[in-house]
Amino acid sequence: MGEMSVADAVEHYLAAVVEREPQERECLACFVDRMVAEFGCDSTLLWATRFRDLRSPTATALEQRFLAMAVRCDCMVLQKAYQPVREVMVRDVHTDDLERPDRMPPCAGVRRTNTRPCAHWERGRMAGYPD
Ligand SMILES: [Zn+2]
Ligand SMILES: [Zn+2]
Repeated sequence: MGEMSVADAVEHYLAAVVEREPQERECLACFVDRMVAEFGCDSTLLWATRFRDLRSPTATALEQRFLAMAVRCDCMVLQKAYQPVREVMVRDVHTDDLERPDRMPPCAGVRRTNTRPCAHWERGRMAGYPD
């Protein structure tokens, strides 16, 4: 296996974007988390909007809602908009701090057209999070 050329990498990435879909009942946050872990963040709300387009195309305010919170890309969705609940956090043996796990547990599930996160996530601690 040689190194992928840039063109190949772009093609690979685009193919991934087209093929990747949320699993049955998977929530927006778990989907974005899974996609960012696998493919990275391209500094846009690519995965969040893909979820919306596939699952809840009428939720057109989703990006505006995130942008209003200065959530400009998929990794910010997982850091600012939502964060793992205590129950799924793991304790760092060195610092005794609670940290997010390397891998989130499988999604707890939401209604298919819901753009809210499942029980594994809570709203990030940000002032003025709109409902
Ligand atoms: Zn990002
Ligand atoms: Zn979930």
